Amino acid sequence: MRHIFSVWIFIGLATAVWAESIKVASLSTVLSDIARNVGGDRVEVREIIKPGSDPHLYEPTPGDIKKISNVQIVLANGLGFEPYLDKLRSSVEKSGVTFVVAGSAVKPIACMEVDHHDHSHADNATDPHWWHSIANVEAVTLQVRDAFIAADPVGRTEFEANAKAFEDKLKSLSKWVRLELAALPKSKRILVTSHDALGYFAKDYGFEILPVQGISTSDQPSSQKVRHLIQEIKDRQVKAIFAENIENPKVLRQITIESGANLGGTLYADGLGSGDAGTYLGMMRSNVTTIVGALQ
Ligand SMILES: [Zn+2]
Repeated sequence: MRHIFSVWIFIGLATAVWAESIKVASLSTVLSDIARNVGGDRVEVREIIKPGSDPHLYEPTPGDIKKISNVQIVLANGLGFEPYLDKLRSSVEKSGVTFVVAGSAVKPIACMEVDHHDHSHADNATDPHWWHSIANVEAVTLQVRDAFIAADPVGRTEFEANAKAFEDKLKSLSKWVRLELAALPKSKRILVTSHDALGYFAKDYGFEILPVQGISTSDQPSSQKVRHLIQEIKDRQVKAIFAENIENPKVLRQITIESGANLGGTLYADGLGSGDAGTYLGMMRSNVTTIVGALQ
């Protein structure tokens, strides 16, 4: 009896030692975080897109393509966020890599400012910044969980428990966001931003996005559009603007000086940041705290 027991312990140890973790390449900092939460120790996440970098400017290097062909699963946003996705997919297809595309698990919404979008999302009709809706992140958590189970059926119980724990955190986050935003009456729920990234957030929480139309590096401060925006900020008594994507400091100064609005601080639009904003939960908390603090 003791003998059999030892054999079982031996087999157990051997499995633990030999079990290879699933190798995952991630094209999104948010997806990396979801993967780490759901995968735990059974998954090794290789971040192709690093926190703090601009994913819109990214193009896969030959080194990245090599990295990606050596994994089992690639996590991508889809919805046109990665204009290179189809090409990437066909170049690593023969390596047997599975693509998990978040866009296919979420309810897409249309871009609010198609004409004035100052970075190139390949599919202009759809807003690819799906993660600004917590409900979408819940859906993608289940999608990632199922992909991991398919790749590593032995890990099922663990993936299910991890996904459940993360879902619970998302539910608490959701409650917290609603409580925080209760401080802002409907008339103050206006986001002045040129970056059309917060559409999902705006839709979930009844915000209006007042677009900084066409104000990019190329626009001149004297333009009709800028004056129109300044007037609207004044008329509607908007206290702050979120200006990360207005790259023209002269225009920015003109808008704040003439409208009397403050700069509202940094919103994480295209992915996770560092420090507290280095996780999805922290990033959302940071955005909501910034928005409430600036507009209250
Ligand atoms: Zn963007």
